Amino acid sequence: MTDRKRIVILGAGFGGLFCSLKLAAQPVDVILIDRNDFHTFQPLIYQVATGTLDAVTVGHPVRDLLHKHKNVTFHVAKVLDVDFGAREVHVSGMGPVSYDYLVIGLGSVANDFGIPGVADHAFPLYTLDDAVRLRSHVLLAFEAADKNPELIEDGELTFAIVGGGPTGIETAGAMVELIATSLAEDFPNLDMAQSRVVLIQRESMLLPPFDPKLQAYAEETLKDRGVDLRLNEAVTEVNSTHLVLDSGETIPARTVIWAGGLKSNPVVEKLDIDLVRGRIPVSPDLSIADHPEVFAVGDCAAVMSEDGERALPQLASVAKQAGEYVAGSIKRQLADKPVKPFHYSDRGIMATIGRRAAVIQMPGGHTITGTPAWAAWAGVHLALLSGAESRVTAVLDWSWSMFTHQHRSRIVLNRDEEEDQSS
Ligand SMILES: Cc1cc2nc3c(=O)[nH]c(=O)nc-3n(C[C@H](O)[C@H](O)[C@H](O)COP(=O)(O)OP(=O)(O)OC[C@H]3O[C@@H](n4cnc5c(N)ncnc54)[C@H](O)[C@@H]3O)c2cc1C
Repeated sequence: MTDRKRIVILGAGFGGLFCSLKLAAQPVDVILIDRNDFHTFQPLIYQVATGTLDAVTVGHPVRDLLHKHKNVTFHVAKVLDVDFGAREVHVSGMGPVSYDYLVIGLGSVANDFGIPGVADHAFPLYTLDDAVRLRSHVLLAFEAADKNPELIEDGELTFAIVGGGPTGIETAGAMVELIATSLAEDFPNLDMAQSRVVLIQRESMLLPPFDPKLQAYAEETLKDRGVDLRLNEAVTEVNSTHLVLDSGETIPARTVIWAGGLKSNPVVEKLDIDLVRGRIPVSPDLSIADHPEVFAVGDCAAVMSEDGERALPQLASVAKQAGEYVAGSIKRQLADKPVKPFHYSDRGIMATIGRRAAVIQMPGGHTITGTPAWAAWAGVHLALLSGAESRVTAVLDWSWSMFTHQHRSRIVLNRDEEEDQSS
């Protein structure tokens, strides 16, 4: 028996991972649990889907990040539920895991909003598995059209992306580049002018939280690069061969990429908590009501801004800062020191639209576009990637793609699964 406190952290995303790294070498026992053996750098998964980066650049082995941290134990297991009364977590493949402190950082899942056909036929872009599956599907679509060009009229080479937020615009920009460069060379017998990338956005503008100037820049850039932009259009049905818009228009498309929004993680939904728009309400110290020993961080938490007006956005920077803050406040509690409320240090928001095109909005309202924004976007994402080798690989892959216009990681994986689904 030991009187060291046990801190159980659910999820090795930005919130959970950075919380555990901050607790390393402290006189506590940390148990980190994730269903995957890797940490996913979600902001770059669209580059895996479009062949620029390899999956191992964007997913980093969690165990590798914990080698030096002897007080942190990692388990690959699926979290099933939490018993707040008994202070234990139920996970797959092992007995109940008891805790003195619990940090919930389970993220969110893609939201299909109950639209018919989305769950069965659309490709969500939220996990690394999603990205690899989508990449294979896109490449196999070109292989199918190469064998039978008549399929093109039926939407084999039409890629519809639903959602005009950062994920949607980044994917649309990267997809037109992939098609116009690497795939145009790979498939000389196909007329690439027949391939379409359609971006569908329910609102009247792209990138809703950004400054209107940046929204207009994103819109113009995507149109210039050949994206068929549909604003003020909502998807009402998705099928394996087409999608339907609320205007009644049917777009033949055998690939519908779903970047339409998020909903609660099913484990979070099961907790005995009244969620706020699918997220766990938290106090200013990020603990949950009636359980000062339980904290929620990242996408699954509704962390209010300091003026109490709105929940902070679901961003990696919010999750990382929250995870590190909770680690710090547990340390202070154990040292009998007072805990200050969480303060989010906002460093702005950014999105890239493709080669030499990005938008940045700084906290004071200052905006940047074009090549300088793109270079800054690349620098920030490189700095945030886990592991030196991932950073080096990303720089090499980006440079290679920049100078040769080639996408090195364009191979089909999980072929049997993909063929099973299309047969
Ligand atoms: C495509 C995409 C692009 C994005 N781009 C940006 C960007 O450019 N900038 C930005 O700031 N933010 C971006 N975000 C948002 C950002 O990635 C999230 O805000 C951030 O990842 C949230 O961190 P988190 O720790 O809360 O959750 P996550 O990073 O989602 O981590 C949750 C972890 O919990 C694990 N998990 C879930 N359920 C279970 C279970 N039942 N059992 C065990 N483990 C489980 C998952 O495997 C995962 O590792 C993007 C998100 C997406 C999807």
